[in-house]
Amino acid sequence: MFSSLNRARSLLSLIRYYSSEVLPQLTKDRYPNIKRGNYAVLTQDHLQYFVDLLGRNRVLNDPSDCETYNIDFIKSVRGYSQCVLKPQTTEEVSKILSFCDEHRLAVCPQGGNTGLVGGSVPVFDEVILSTTLMNKIISIDDISGVLVCEAGCILEELEHALGEQGLMMPLDLGAKGSCRIGGNVSTNAGGLRLIRYGNLHGNVLGVEAVKANGQIIDCLSTLKKDNTGYHLKHLFIGSEGTLGVVTKVVIHCPQKPTSLSLAFFGLESFDNILSTFKRAKKELGEILSSCEMLDAQSLNVVKTHLKLKSPIDDYPYYMVIETSGSNEQHDEEKLNRFLEGVMGDGLVMDGTVTNEPGKMRSIWDLRERITEALMYDGYLYKYDISLPIKDFYSLIPKMIERLGSDATRISGYGHIGDGNIHLNISVPKFRQDVLKKIEPYVYELTSQLKGSVSAEHGVGFRKPPYIHYSKSQNSIDLMKDLKKMMDPNNILNPYKVLPF
Ligand SMILES: Cc1cc2nc3c(=O)[nH]c(=O)nc-3n(C[C@H](O)[C@H](O)[C@H](O)COP(=O)(O)OP(=O)(O)OC[C@H]3O[C@@H](n4cnc5c(N)ncnc54)[C@H](O)[C@@H]3O)c2cc1C
Repeated sequence: MFSSLNRARSLLSLIRYYSSEVLPQLTKDRYPNIKRGNYAVLTQDHLQYFVDLLGRNRVLNDPSDCETYNIDFIKSVRGYSQCVLKPQTTEEVSKILSFCDEHRLAVCPQGGNTGLVGGSVPVFDEVILSTTLMNKIISIDDISGVLVCEAGCILEELEHALGEQGLMMPLDLGAKGSCRIGGNVSTNAGGLRLIRYGNLHGNVLGVEAVKANGQIIDCLSTLKKDNTGYHLKHLFIGSEGTLGVVTKVVIHCPQKPTSLSLAFFGLESFDNILSTFKRAKKELGEILSSCEMLDAQSLNVVKTHLKLKSPIDDYPYYMVIETSGSNEQHDEEKLNRFLEGVMGDGLVMDGTVTNEPGKMRSIWDLRERITEALMYDGYLYKYDISLPIKDFYSLIPKMIERLGSDATRISGYGHIGDGNIHLNISVPKFRQDVLKKIEPYVYELTSQLKGSVSAEHGVGFRKPPYIHYSKSQNSIDLMKDLKKMMDPNNILNPYKVLPF
């Protein structure tokens, strides 16, 4: 608990550091080909309406108060909105959206602002609708495992509240101390537990959302089975705030495991990672709950910038394998047999296994804090890609060869169990010429390998021009039709997800 609170604080201080000390270039200047839509410009009358509705304290319009809301976590984009609204109820969200729709004010929904594709901040001067004050847990049913809560609940706080009832969230990610469940649902966030519990399309039982015109769509079913017509909730899961603002969610939560162990391995080759993963699936079976990999550069970055310590010697690759279950003796026996096998066969060169909470936290920090550590390198070109498992690591050597001395660090880590790699290219400062060397090349390669240009982070602002590498034209056209039907004035998160 203490260490995760520290992590959340450190994440927040990093956000503050970057937003106040090193302001990124405005998005409109960095991407001059994107033109502002024909939206109204905020006036005193608009502001007065919001103040009358929410009160002065829940309407920010001083530029310095709005600054952190205008910059994304990896400082890749910056808007210049002068209006942050903090509703507390669904009815307030409804009134805000209906007013914005009527007056053609563009809106950018925002949760914890930890998104990594530039979707959570305005591109120009869109009004920011922040869910931070919609943070109540409505109910937890410890028999069915059903959680009902507001969209602004912080993921880690939900985890703690559920833990008291013997339950846990089906998702976990490095940004848990700051990201909010409405943001998680809107991005269909993946993370460290997806291998075991699947993605949010399976775990979200119900959603309440507000459409662009202010209409409230109540799909807040708490039932596991409900085949009454179209499954509308899925429209809001992963649509990144372009079809509606999620205000409440219902999540089916698994039982919290009573036996938990974590292994950290050093390996000599990527092929050995694949063989170890295959063995883990076969020999650990139902107790395998996470399977992650990181390369030497990813470990170096947390050792260098965050002064974290690795429990084993240096190797080219590392794996983090978590098991969780309900019978400690059974789980330990399985894990020990697996360990003896992979070490005896020379797949794993060195490793450590622990079930002590403090030691497990220290190992997870090595993996979960990589993004935070990479920020200290300077500017980060970050890619989140799904690939067929045999090609999982293939982009890294290709990018190293292509970029040569243009990059200070090229690293790869990710959810090997889900075929999802995070490719990171660090440079001291943003450079347009480096960007041109990376994109669209990285997406072309991904497409040739039959991968996806976004595995779990979404499309946001940074990927609409490349969505066609992973979606057919007919599918994109259908997405555009849905958008037109649900948000005819295009006020919700414009310039995001759909190709401009
Ligand atoms: C250190 C770190 C680790 C991460 N690890 C992972 C990981 O393992 N897996 C993963 O999938 N992601 C990961 N992410 C990315 C990010 O945390 C997720 O995308 C997360 O789900 C975003 O939640 P948020 O509340 O911060 O949303 P925001 O960043 O505020 O918003 C994300 C998108 O959702 C929209 N949105 C937010 N709230 C709402 C709402 N209530 N209604 C409608 N639209 C909304 C925004 O407009 C935006 O388009 C990581 C990020 C960091 C910084």
